[in-house]
Amino acid sequence: MINRRQFLASSALTAIYARTFAATSTETPGTTPWSNWSGGQTANPAGRFSPSSETDLVQFLQATTGAIRPVGAGHSFTPLVPTDGHLIVIDQLSGVLDDSREAMTATLGAGTRLSDIGPALEERGQAMLNLPDIDRQTLAGATATATHGTGISFPSLSGFVESLRLITPAGDILDFSATDDELNAARVSLGALGVVTQMTLKNRPPYRLRARNTVEKIESVLERFDTAAANHRHFEMFPLTHSDYALVLEIDETNADINNPPPAPEEAAAFGQAMAGWAATPPKDRQPLVDGLAEQIQPTEAVDTSYKILSNVRNNRFNEMEYSVPLHAGADCLREILRTIKEKEIDVVFPLEYRYVQRDDTWIGMSTGDEDHAAISIHRTASEDYRPYFDLIEPIFWKYGGRPHWGKIHSLSASELTKLYPRFGDFQALRKRLDPAGRLLNNHLRKILSV
Ligand SMILES: Cc1cc2nc3c(=O)[nH]c(=O)nc-3n(C[C@H](O)[C@H](O)[C@H](O)COP(=O)(O)OP(=O)(O)OC[C@H]3O[C@@H](n4cnc5c(N)ncnc54)[C@H](O)[C@@H]3O)c2cc1C
Repeated sequence: MINRRQFLASSALTAIYARTFAATSTETPGTTPWSNWSGGQTANPAGRFSPSSETDLVQFLQATTGAIRPVGAGHSFTPLVPTDGHLIVIDQLSGVLDDSREAMTATLGAGTRLSDIGPALEERGQAMLNLPDIDRQTLAGATATATHGTGISFPSLSGFVESLRLITPAGDILDFSATDDELNAARVSLGALGVVTQMTLKNRPPYRLRARNTVEKIESVLERFDTAAANHRHFEMFPLTHSDYALVLEIDETNADINNPPPAPEEAAAFGQAMAGWAATPPKDRQPLVDGLAEQIQPTEAVDTSYKILSNVRNNRFNEMEYSVPLHAGADCLREILRTIKEKEIDVVFPLEYRYVQRDDTWIGMSTGDEDHAAISIHRTASEDYRPYFDLIEPIFWKYGGRPHWGKIHSLSASELTKLYPRFGDFQALRKRLDPAGRLLNNHLRKILSV
């Protein structure tokens, strides 16, 4: 017997659904406004085209001339997607298209949601190497912005892409594999080179993880961060604002039995109540409250299949700024941000996030180059104006050589970005070659790519 939830989640059903209902491309005229997950970005597209096949996508691109923007799950905070032309919705280009247990690779439709990949790969004796904090994104959307998880041994998700197929605005089909230099541009493309329709991921056999959540003083975590990051498969912390403490997360492989009960509703309610209490207290008086609560938090542990441990559900909408700074500068950059929040009495209760990401050789991924990076995030509840807070903190990231996450709020334009990436000019030239008419450009891309 399986329950309703298991039935709905079963990949057999997904496959039947895909065969039965996803057989036709759809074009919807622009009557419905679009907005991203946080509600911070909106658009009134002229229409939405949802291809059910690469052939239909090619035909659409060849039959039309206006502006287009590929959209994934709309989980980027920056205006990468908004267009008054057509959105290309890739949801129907999804699922496992091919797999090789010998090579431990799988080819997936670019519109596959990360949340669907875990169960689908598990059936084939495979698992993704890492995942970001949530799993609602599409594979194409996540890789296009160099979305990453945690771990000094793992590059961003785009680092697992062994080959991909991209369809240019003129309708040309381009296949890039490991021997093509352009693969390193197309793996993190911001949707500026064409529409990615499928990609092959390097995977591994399924595995189980144990997550351990603790609370510790920020300075003590920083002192042992490098060692802990080397000794744990994943290690990160969420520094609390106006506090000396951070929530710490260690994740390691295990063969232990699955033990992952959902959090008790009263636990979440108690934390929510505490946060409300902090928010009602002026920032200058907040530290004793926050530290007091932090000292009472007991460690928790959970064991489950990898993909169930690596990603979380985030129901409270927020906006986020994240910069990656070279690893050697990470701790000092974080310290200065926390000091600034305290000294300027910034009224923010949202914890920060501090994690390591391995370097890669993409052209414009945030961790490209010779050094691993520390990714530091700040957040602001979606109903609040994030600008005063983010504007104050952003120059600190610049001071430490930070590169902005492409999907998260930043204010940089091409003249600054070009100094941060040795191959920025190559990316600009490739974009021009693949989209000479600029069909894929919107105002934001014009600004960051200087077109
Ligand atoms: C709650 C939350 C948690 C997050 N956690 C993390 C995290 O842990 N780590 C991290 O690094 N980021 C994180 N992010 C950021 C998020 O992963 C990225 O912004 C990601 O790009 C969103 O994917 P998406 O499918 O929603 O793509 P969208 O936001 O819809 O699009 C992103 C980009 O991909 C392009 N694109 C989409 N489809 C295609 C295609 N078929 N071909 C070419 N280009 C395409 C779009 O044009 C756009 O430029 C988080 C975001 C949220 C809201």
